[in-house]
Amino acid sequence: MKQSFIPEDAPFSGEQRVWLGGFLAGLQSRAAITENAGALASQAAATPSLTLDILYGTQTGNAETVAMDAAEMARVNGFAPTVHSMDDVSMEQLAAMERVIVAVSTYGEGEMPDNAQLFWDELSSTSAPRLENMKFAVLALGDTGYDEFCQAGKLIDMRFEQLGAKRLASRIDCDVDYEDAANGWLTETLPLANDDSAGGITAPAPAAKAAGAEKSKWSRKNPYGSKVVENRLLSGKKSAKEIRHFSFDLGDSGLSYEAGDALGVMPVNDPALVTALLERLGEHPEAAVAGHDKPLGELLSKQFEIARPSKEIIAAVAEQSGDDELRHVYSNGDKEALEAFLWGRDTLDLLNLNPKLSLSATELLGLLKPLQHRAYSISSSPKAHDNEVHLTVAAVRWKREGREHKGVCSTFLSDMIAEGDTAGIFVSPNKSFRVPSDADAPMIMVGPGTGIAPFRAFLEERQATGAKGKNWLFFGDQHRDCDFIYEDEIAIFSKASVLNRLDLAFSRDQSEKIYVQSRMRENGKELFSWLEEGGHFYVCGDATRMAKDVEQALLDVIAAQGGLSEDGALEYLTRLKREKRYLRDVY
Ligand code: NAP
Repeated sequence: MKQSFIPEDAPFSGEQRVWLGGFLAGLQSRAAITENAGALASQAAATPSLTLDILYGTQTGNAETVAMDAAEMARVNGFAPTVHSMDDVSMEQLAAMERVIVAVSTYGEGEMPDNAQLFWDELSSTSAPRLENMKFAVLALGDTGYDEFCQAGKLIDMRFEQLGAKRLASRIDCDVDYEDAANGWLTETLPLANDDSAGGITAPAPAAKAAGAEKSKWSRKNPYGSKVVENRLLSGKKSAKEIRHFSFDLGDSGLSYEAGDALGVMPVNDPALVTALLERLGEHPEAAVAGHDKPLGELLSKQFEIARPSKEIIAAVAEQSGDDELRHVYSNGDKEALEAFLWGRDTLDLLNLNPKLSLSATELLGLLKPLQHRAYSISSSPKAHDNEVHLTVAAVRWKREGREHKGVCSTFLSDMIAEGDTAGIFVSPNKSFRVPSDADAPMIMVGPGTGIAPFRAFLEERQATGAKGKNWLFFGDQHRDCDFIYEDEIAIFSKASVLNRLDLAFSRDQSEKIYVQSRMRENGKELFSWLEEGGHFYVCGDATRMAKDVEQALLDVIAAQGGLSEDGALEYLTRLKREKRYLRDVY
């Protein structure tokens, strides 16, 4: 059955034939796509290898994964694909490309991901080259929960067209649940890149591997039920925070990861919030809901996002609740005022704006989004912890109108997962956030608060590999006596000369605030000399304020110590980015 799509005489090796057969058979249930996949396979058998450039812009690794999948699909089907991180592509190279697939995510409020920013700066400038010889298609990744949904993909799509490139296919804008849509789009779009009718048959490159062969079977859709072997409080009793260390047993899952990757965790909603919502609806947890095969209580616990209100529910409540303030800020289109209004409010708070507002369970579910995983930077190196993966998570809690509110996944882990319980996890690779490939290169890490997570992993990695490069950590939080997490481990790294410099900034131990960037400025001379020695500079943590302020401090240090103008310092930073020596894991 499987092989009926592949001509007998098609020049595939056994391994390739098996994969392609499986790939096509997997598409059988979707008739439209199957037709295209069949076309793809038969075209591949009849045409020579065509170059195909696949460009990705990624913040957390998803777009890179899509790009890699696209390359495997293309390779097995006779293309000769090359995958590029966007910032590695010069405008000269871009202008020479004939067939281009772009996979790009959007970060923050409509921003380019870090590895696409330099590319975009050049592409959007007046000196960008004409792209008349290029055919292209854009796959944009985003989150409909944000206003600027897929903005980075939209901008690149528009700019390529402005520069004269021709679309192979319309752009696809994928939501967080992107896998099926992305696969279907690639299956339909790749054959359109095959415009060469020069005849001859080229076999897939010998190095071609089946797309699924190296990929973990554990994913967002199929998380591994891992046993939690440690759930330990890191912060002290007096701390304003509750930061915890979690260790997950990888059992016989075969899951693997590297220091720098993220771990996806599938949460379950807070039972108190589920009960309160059921009461508000006047429904029983066992109530059946039309169109769903699970009872209402289970749907609200495991399948729908009930903490963060969806855009749809905000619109519906703005219209129906009769709440003047919400109606006013909503209809005004004032994003900041709406954000301020929504701050700290969950779905139940919105429904409670008007106690008379009545929604049926079906109406409510129709307005909710699916419950999504949360991703956390992994805080362990697999080389230091056999078959385990660790996280460092701050439990988010706040009170509003007398009711306790909780961050969905951080408190799922803290409150609902005891040692021995299981939680659904999967690895989200972030290949661009790694220790330096040069084991002798210095490493400078800035990670206040839980931003320290990947740097614990990096230090473990460098210790385990015996890397000789020196390491410098900037860490801080509110108070030294209760917020200095991993203090013991850090002391051991220092004693073992794995950590060569440590600068601490406890913001609230004195009258004026002291932050990590204050310490960077105080130590500017040495910091600059580490950069000059080929140092790699890493930042992890809060994107909105800390990461921006740290970047400014870095620019100030470069300007002051390098005797450079503001523009000169910016150029220096651009060079660091190009050389992948300025890397951030921030959100
Ligand atoms: P936090 O709230 O960031 O606080 C840590 C320290 O940073 C505190 O001393 C805080 O001081 C200080 N701080 C506040 N504003 C700052 C600024 N503009 N510049 C420098 N330092 C500043 O710590 P947290 O509770 O652990 O939260 C960490 C943040 O990082 C969260 O937003 C989390 O989501 C994010 N995070 C992201 C990743 C990732 O991207 N992979 C990983 C881990 C954490 P004061 O409070 O005294 O002002």
